Amino acid sequence: MKIIKETNQDKVPTSINKIILLIVIAFVFSVATRMVWVYEFKGVEQFKFNNELMINTNDGYYYAEGARDRIAGTHQENDLSPIDSSASILAAGVAKITPFSIETILLYLPAIFGSLLVIPLILIGHSINRIEVGFIAALVGSIAHSYYNRTMVGYYDTDLLNIVFPTILMWSLAWALKTKEDKYILLMAVDIIAYRWWYAQSYSLEFAFFGLILIYAIYEYVKKEDYKFTMILLTFMMFSISGLDILYRILIIILMFTLLHYKKEIFQKYMIYFFLASVITFFASGIFDLIWGRLESYVFDGASNLNKGELNLHFYTVVQTIREAGSISFVTFGERISGSVFAFLLSFGGYIWLCKKHPIMLLGLPLVGLGFLALSSGLRFTIYAVPVMALGIAFLISELSRKVSKQRIMQTIVASVLTVLVLLPNINHAMEYKVPPVFTKDEVIVLDQLRSIANREDYVVSWWDYGYPIRYYADVKTLIDGGKHTGEVNFPTSFALTNPQDVAAKMLRLDVEYTEKKFALEKAIKDAKDSGKARNKTQDEIDLKRTNIASMTIDNGFKDTNDFLTALSSDIKMLPKTRDIYIHMPSNMMGIYPTIKLFSGINLMDGSMNANPFFFTTSTFSENNEFIELGDGLRLSKSDGILKVGENSVKIKRFVKTEYDIEGKLKVSTQDMAFDGSLSVIYMTNYKQFLVVDEATFSSTYFKLFVLEDYDKKFFEPTILTPLVKVYKLKI
Ligand code: MN
Repeated sequence: MKIIKETNQDKVPTSINKIILLIVIAFVFSVATRMVWVYEFKGVEQFKFNNELMINTNDGYYYAEGARDRIAGTHQENDLSPIDSSASILAAGVAKITPFSIETILLYLPAIFGSLLVIPLILIGHSINRIEVGFIAALVGSIAHSYYNRTMVGYYDTDLLNIVFPTILMWSLAWALKTKEDKYILLMAVDIIAYRWWYAQSYSLEFAFFGLILIYAIYEYVKKEDYKFTMILLTFMMFSISGLDILYRILIIILMFTLLHYKKEIFQKYMIYFFLASVITFFASGIFDLIWGRLESYVFDGASNLNKGELNLHFYTVVQTIREAGSISFVTFGERISGSVFAFLLSFGGYIWLCKKHPIMLLGLPLVGLGFLALSSGLRFTIYAVPVMALGIAFLISELSRKVSKQRIMQTIVASVLTVLVLLPNINHAMEYKVPPVFTKDEVIVLDQLRSIANREDYVVSWWDYGYPIRYYADVKTLIDGGKHTGEVNFPTSFALTNPQDVAAKMLRLDVEYTEKKFALEKAIKDAKDSGKARNKTQDEIDLKRTNIASMTIDNGFKDTNDFLTALSSDIKMLPKTRDIYIHMPSNMMGIYPTIKLFSGINLMDGSMNANPFFFTTSTFSENNEFIELGDGLRLSKSDGILKVGENSVKIKRFVKTEYDIEGKLKVSTQDMAFDGSLSVIYMTNYKQFLVVDEATFSSTYFKLFVLEDYDKKFFEPTILTPLVKVYKLKI
């Protein structure tokens, strides 16, 4: 069997005009489907800011911050702004060459770049002389469930090119092997280098492609076929994948290609040396360790070492709260790749058939493999399988239509009907997938005001979900964000939000100053390294590894962090104040209060979890003369203030009612009930929300500051108070 073969039936040359036309049609289809979201929401004023719809992914604000600072040409030291990230460079670059606002660019770029997937898919079809297969695959793949989700309008993330690059790689390798023309080697190398620049973790997929080509070279060798071209291909691949600096890799590829192009005989003569050099470069540049480490992390679940520094503190791990990381069901898996399980099974069968007829399509295996990792490692991987499975179903449709009739027109009708059937669940999904923007206009207005109040060096403390948007809109620093939210960094913020104001204020001041202290240490180490000054390396290592909370404990002379936490309410050593701190509390933080509490609800010394707080909230309740029915078995008696929790009766300590008056000022009325009661009932009139909480939650900083506006003047002062978001400034 020859791997690269053509059947007679397939020898229908396609004109370049036809290819371009099909690409344009598929591209327009892909973008148009994504525009449904825009038409759905364009009339919603609350979803707009600066006259543009706002993006719908938290991470998008990360790249937005980098792009904003790139355009401004400056940013603050240690503000974590990713000005050198590829996605920020792309957005800022497009802003420079087009008249559009950064908001418009961030909104539409995912739809436009994500839709570029149709190009390699159509060209892959062309490479096996089955343009219609490529075209159908382009229609299906470009809007397939999970691919749509991650490249929809407003989803500004590296995903917008993460599938396009490896699909181009698959196409260039197919063409290279088929034509044995040098130019496709160059295309392949450029694609790999660009892919790595765009997405630093792309090496595992690139390496999988390399492995596949290597197997093919061995196959050729064993079959005594000419394997020289494949060896050249492997050499270029290895250099492109290696961990050398991008400039060196570009230089090496240019030099080697020039030699290959003009002095092929020399290149072939010394082929084996080039190959060996590429292997040595590959291993010496350290990229293999990264690949190996990644494989290991897939195989073993990478349980993190809880022991940080010499205090051996135990932190709550964020993985425990993120659903995405878990495994998914086969139904979800199939739906996300092909729109339905049925379509997925057909796609899979179609792909096997495709490979049997056109073995070169085995080049899709690395993408399929990575996509199938979703079954064990979470749904974010499914998108990798999308383009290849789309080729599978497209091939099946094309073959079936050929079986049904010999007439061209009949074939087209059958293929069209089947394609529409496969597309429908995916189009349906796109219509129904109405993710709102991350923030509403009213929430953003608060951050926009805060930008003119707070200094760029000031900290705005909030839960990590709000980190990136806060930094983008208010241009300040944050303690935690979408990329910095391990148990150890979340602890102080969690502690501050869920504990009384005095200890919260001290904890926030300490955490900010210790965070800055660590930045200063990192800088000192770097400066010493640059200038060749000697430092105590062992001490530096210990200091770098030490968490802020451990530093606080040790610097105050404690050996037990719990003792330090207890001492917080009395007299402890503070670091000098270097900047202002604001605490940002949106109303929807209420819904995640129990989750926030988890991160400080752990005994840092032994890792045991404290009892969960009593925390109940509802906006669906009913009332009669005697009772208020809160649902979930909770019923409040109006006459004696007894709360029935299932079969138990609990005494209510107080009943609190909050309400905005005509001037928009919050009025709080408290009715004391049983002195020895343990729970408080709060009715937030304007939110139409009942809360039933224990005493610890009632006296937490979030409840006092957000729900009751009962701030301790020694520690906090109000900065911006709106029903949706409240911002206070720390006074210590
Ligand atoms: Mn900044």
